[in-house]
Amino acid sequence: METMLSPAPQQPALAAPAPITVAMGDGIGPEIMTQTLRILSAAGAALAPEFIEVGEQQYHAGHSSGIAPEAWDSLRHTGVLLKAPITTPLGGGYKSLNVTLRKTLGLYANVRPNRSLHPAVATRFPNLDVVIIRENEEDLYAGIEHQQTPDVVQCLKLVSRPGCEKIARYAFEYCRQHGRRKVTCMTKDNIMKLTDGLFHRVFTEIGREYPDIEQEHQIIDIGTARLADTPERYDVVLTLNLYGDIISDVVAQIAGSVGLAGSANIGAGGSLFEAIHGSAPDIAGQDVANPSGLLQASILMLRHLGQGKVADVVENAWLRTLEDGLHTADIYRAGNSRERVGTTAFADAVIARL
Ligand code: NAD
Repeated sequence: METMLSPAPQQPALAAPAPITVAMGDGIGPEIMTQTLRILSAAGAALAPEFIEVGEQQYHAGHSSGIAPEAWDSLRHTGVLLKAPITTPLGGGYKSLNVTLRKTLGLYANVRPNRSLHPAVATRFPNLDVVIIRENEEDLYAGIEHQQTPDVVQCLKLVSRPGCEKIARYAFEYCRQHGRRKVTCMTKDNIMKLTDGLFHRVFTEIGREYPDIEQEHQIIDIGTARLADTPERYDVVLTLNLYGDIISDVVAQIAGSVGLAGSANIGAGGSLFEAIHGSAPDIAGQDVANPSGLLQASILMLRHLGQGKVADVVENAWLRTLEDGLHTADIYRAGNSRERVGTTAFADAVIARL
């Protein structure tokens, strides 16, 4: 299905509509995607979305990676996927859709910006402003698991020099492009001397090419403790796939909610933009989910597509909505918030402030 998101009448289109692929997802996915697309349309984003189906229905239709073969045609055509979260079925025989997409599209960098919106959104960390850059194709997260015997299973931790070089260079280049000053590399190389050791060593080697960027290394366990205690001492954190998955939820939550953060997955074969959270089945269908994480992802997508002005318009309207105290349940705090709103009402409020 192909539809056009037409520009708002008062704003001229900034560019020819960019083809993008959109996946509505499972659980809260359709609710937050519908509202995100409404906001993008009202802001005048020049987008030509093509819709694909991924997730639970596709798993149950017999596609073991949760995606129908024809959906790849759209991804090949657009090279850009805006994706709502999906529910991964439990049990054997299913492969993770997210891991499949990342590996097939070569999405080696997962970028997750988090910042405090204090005092609009309550947090104990008003000066938090941390970007997590996570290696996205390798590590334990590559999904290579074996049944050794009925009682012994094995998961392969795969780390390659080219993979480490790509992500380290990406982190330093990101700093230069975004005016960031320091990269903290986090690994567990005191124990995993070969795999995490290679990641740390390559970070140090590539770092020599970037003398303008401050560099440090921390063991992931104490690094995570410090992140949760004094996040303001961090700028960009570079780490392996699984550690990055875990610490980015920690940082988003202490900034206010996992529902606030978006991510960009970048690679040679395309790009994928999504919220950092999952499909939240516990609140699905109730119009209470926070659409902000997916909206943040779509702002990252607009900038990636060269539609930075529309991205700024959307971001400012979103910030004003939060500053005006219109908060979804996950960030609502009596005394700090003015009104508890649902997903649709939150999007209405953003649109009214465009
Ligand atoms: P989750 O992130 O879906 O939910 C964790 C908690 O955060 C829940 O209490 C939920 O209500 C809350 N929450 C999450 N997003 C929210 C939002 N936008 N607004 C308000 N509250 C929000 O994690 P989970 O429950 O462990 O996972 C549920 C499903 O999501 C699983 O099947 C998992 O595999 C899948 N998942 C998918 C992705 C993805 O598609 N990228 C990522 C993570 C998890």
